[in-house]
Amino acid sequence: MTVAFIGHGYVGLVTAAVFADLGNTVWVVGRTKEKIEKLQKGITLFFEPGLAELVKRNVEAKRLLFTLDYRLAILPSEIIFICVGTPSKANGEADLSNVFTAAEKIGKNLIGYKVVVTKSTVPPGTNRKISEILNRVKPEGASFAIASVPEFLREGTAIEDTLHPDRVVIGTTSDRARASLLELHKSIDGKTVLCNVETAELIKYASNALLSTKISFANAIAFLSEKAEADVEKVLEGVGLDRRIGRAFLYPGVGYGGSCFPKDVKALIAFAAVHGYDFKLLRAVDAINQEAGKYFVEKIARHFDHKLKGKTIAILGLAFKPNTDDMREAPSINIVSELIKQGAHIRVYDPVAMENAKLLLPAGVVYAKDAYSATTGSDAVAFVTEWNEFRQLDLVRLAKGMKKLVLFDGRNIYEPTRVKQLGFIYYGIGRM
Ligand code: NAD
Repeated sequence: MTVAFIGHGYVGLVTAAVFADLGNTVWVVGRTKEKIEKLQKGITLFFEPGLAELVKRNVEAKRLLFTLDYRLAILPSEIIFICVGTPSKANGEADLSNVFTAAEKIGKNLIGYKVVVTKSTVPPGTNRKISEILNRVKPEGASFAIASVPEFLREGTAIEDTLHPDRVVIGTTSDRARASLLELHKSIDGKTVLCNVETAELIKYASNALLSTKISFANAIAFLSEKAEADVEKVLEGVGLDRRIGRAFLYPGVGYGGSCFPKDVKALIAFAAVHGYDFKLLRAVDAINQEAGKYFVEKIARHFDHKLKGKTIAILGLAFKPNTDDMREAPSINIVSELIKQGAHIRVYDPVAMENAKLLLPAGVVYAKDAYSATTGSDAVAFVTEWNEFRQLDLVRLAKGMKKLVLFDGRNIYEPTRVKQLGFIYYGIGRM
């Protein structure tokens, strides 16, 4: 099958490369000449495990093609996927301008019959608006069906998630579009949920909202664990062993970040408000999440009696989660900014997100080449992202370089007893 993707971000490029690898001819449309020229040479623009090889292999096999020209991509394609970004507006609503621009360009270049699918996360009702745009701008004789196939991949395991998702949601009322989409997804694992467009749109928001709720719930229980002198890890282990609940996403930390959870929670609150429903639960989820980062900074400040001026804090991990260089809405941004505001010197290290971090962190931050050099001469070390390479750091070597042995474990990756035995003062999340 020949298909087209509009947008070559985390969703567009990964999905396009996976479908190309399965033998399809895949066109990817971008809007920046330099980026498209790099991609045409098989050069990937962001870090995702396994993606560079996958892109290179399929570019060389001429199954993965990049262009700025919508018409070139749309002409041979049976299905066109919209995979553009849908960031938050200031009021929390999803900013759909990229989606509508893409729809307009698709519409003007429609020829014959095409299935136009939205993969971007969009509020219910958006695909109906896309349909109106297509009808308004399409050339005479061109026809289309719309569908919503929301994406559930996670950055860091995006290729695996695309090949083996828990479910493939296909929202459309067109039999012909459904048949094409089922044919394209036949080599993809996972249960298929067939539904109408609006249901598919809402499944995506409901999923992200519930996952965010679990994280904020874990953070609230962590807060109470500290008050109760309980160990939140054991509390949540005990809770999660209940098969009705499960342990997934019941992990406390410095708050969720990334390009999806914060914006999707806010967008669902805004969507609810438009429809006269005050989504109090999600407002609390969002508030607890913002508190989680502040509470971590407060813990650091409290250790130093709120006198951070002149203290050097090493921050290990900057990306919003491990195995990605994505810094969008990463909790590290507010944590670093607040510590600097309070007068601390900050030295940072992240295995892959340093270049992106430089664009977002305040001036004055020192970027170190590894964890050991970041912590050299520091008064404390704070772990913000749970990269695997931090789990088994040589803490004895780390301690030798540090001025003071204080460890703030923002992701509970260390066993407190062991760390304390090495002479560190240990602060975890929800445990002593
Ligand atoms: P991204 O910012 O990484 O990529 C968006 C891409 O769209 C960019 O390449 C941008 O240049 C391109 N674009 C924007 N307007 C365009 C236009 N008119 N023509 C051509 N290209 C255009 O975003 P992403 O992380 O891939 O997310 C895309 C959508 O998928 C969002 O709605 C997001 O919520 C959703 N989503 C993301 C993830 C994730 O883990 N990143 C997972 C599931 C769903």
